[in-house]
Amino acid sequence: TDPSASGIDETPDAVLKRVFGFDSFRGQQEDVISAVMAGEDVLVIMPTGGGKSLCYQVPALCRHGMGIVISPLIALMDDQVAALRQLGVNAAALHSELPPDRLDQTRADLREGRIDLLYISPERLVSPGTARWLARNPVSVLAIDEAHCVSAWGHEFRPEYRALADLPSVFPGVPRIALTATADSRTQDDILLALGMPEAKRLTSSFHRPNLFLAALPKGSETKQVQDALTPHREDAAIVYCGSRNRTERMAKSLRERGFNALPYHAGLSSQEKHATLMRFRSGEPMVIVATVAFGMGIDRPDVRCVVHLDMPASPEAYYQQIGRAGRDGEPADTLLLYGGEDMARARHWLEQSTAPDTEKRVTQARLESMIALTETVECRTQALLACFGEALSAPCGHCDNCRNPAQTFDGTEAAQKVLSTIYRTGQRFGAVHLTTVLRGKLTEAIERHAHQHLTVFGVGKEHSEQWWRGVIRQLIARGAIRMSGEHGALGLDVEAARPLLRGEESLRLRVDPLKPVVSAQRGVS
Ligand code: ADP
Ligand code: ZN
Repeated sequence: TDPSASGIDETPDAVLKRVFGFDSFRGQQEDVISAVMAGEDVLVIMPTGGGKSLCYQVPALCRHGMGIVISPLIALMDDQVAALRQLGVNAAALHSELPPDRLDQTRADLREGRIDLLYISPERLVSPGTARWLARNPVSVLAIDEAHCVSAWGHEFRPEYRALADLPSVFPGVPRIALTATADSRTQDDILLALGMPEAKRLTSSFHRPNLFLAALPKGSETKQVQDALTPHREDAAIVYCGSRNRTERMAKSLRERGFNALPYHAGLSSQEKHATLMRFRSGEPMVIVATVAFGMGIDRPDVRCVVHLDMPASPEAYYQQIGRAGRDGEPADTLLLYGGEDMARARHWLEQSTAPDTEKRVTQARLESMIALTETVECRTQALLACFGEALSAPCGHCDNCRNPAQTFDGTEAAQKVLSTIYRTGQRFGAVHLTTVLRGKLTEAIERHAHQHLTVFGVGKEHSEQWWRGVIRQLIARGAIRMSGEHGALGLDVEAARPLLRGEESLRLRVDPLKPVVSAQRGVS
């Protein structure tokens, strides 16, 4: 039989083998591909590293015509195009950063119908006339990558994505495949609504990554903690995520001074610098990238063995995506999240100050609270993370920090009262460092300046270390009893949450903070 008679040039299995050199499909790939081959619209929810690209690349090559892939990330497009060309696929990209000669060549190839897969930025596709011009030749499939960008609920909303709802009028009958690694069901609903494909088939894969070892640790001496986490991985690739550009620069420098091959990566670097760093990272040499969230989308180095977060991500989704850069080859990999109470309080404070619309604020807030709860959890961390995506893992994972080293707890009621009274009596104007100094009764210059040595709470917490008190304060922040009261890290009471504790109407169990990470992929599998 002649497959082209049905608009199919080659079967998916044949393309998988001939073009990509793989023997079998993974997970849901096969279901997704059959649906697209049958001309259905599909929403694919698959974690990072799950193999989303093949879901549209294979049908694009099997079906008659050119596949169009809408992607918001230029670096990712260029990567994919280069990889496909190596495999002998006629792939090309259309975006604003193409050199003029490249653009001319691509235009000519498109005119002649020589392209099998076209990657295009949404801005480009929705610019006047472009879609119609592309539609003159047959189109096999429309893939909308990073589809959560269409959702205002999402954390990466891009207005140009809204216009993609009109695609069917320009490309009638062409199946659409929307792909994302963002699982929450509200975002899913919103994606389908915004793209005007409510009847699309949803195919969701498990988010469980058993080779990732999850651990979290309260911040102490950050550089030392990062160094300890990276030491077993001196011969590997690792990523350290930071909340700001400055911090990436400083941490990369400290790590270099400690003998690591560490480089910063953030959106403030020139495109040459970014490119050079990416090339080195990809070359396979052992190295540490100290990056903001600008690094990662589309980074496909399979052997990253360690991801450290120096600052708490804003949501479980962001956390999952970032740790998901580790162990894409399926081999064990370590992750470590460093966190502090002030970070949590500050994140909440900024959110309260934000001028975003209320609905959006509530979603961001809910995500942040899930992230805080996930950070402070004493239960299996893997289960807790998957639960954020609505996925139930039937038994504790057995290898996260909390499974390995079950949390010790203590009755923290009195300690909580001491902290809350100290905040109250010092006028809700001081940060955790000063509060701890008051509790421990240390006579410093700052204490004398404010005459805090005369307070009844001065020295009521002598018996515990500074670290210990910081742990109590952090957990009270996480519980919402303490909040940021000003711009400069000053802590205040949340009266509603603090009152029952102060009145002794509520007792409180707190966890004993672990001092060291208890888990390493190195020791994790014997
Ligand atoms: P995602 O876009 O979901 O993050 P990718 O499409 O980049 O994931 O795929 C992740 C890795 O898995 C890639 O290196 C890819 O080559 C590999 N891969 C995907 N599908 C298969 C398969 N069926 N067999 C073998 N390797 C696969
Ligand atoms: Zn566990």
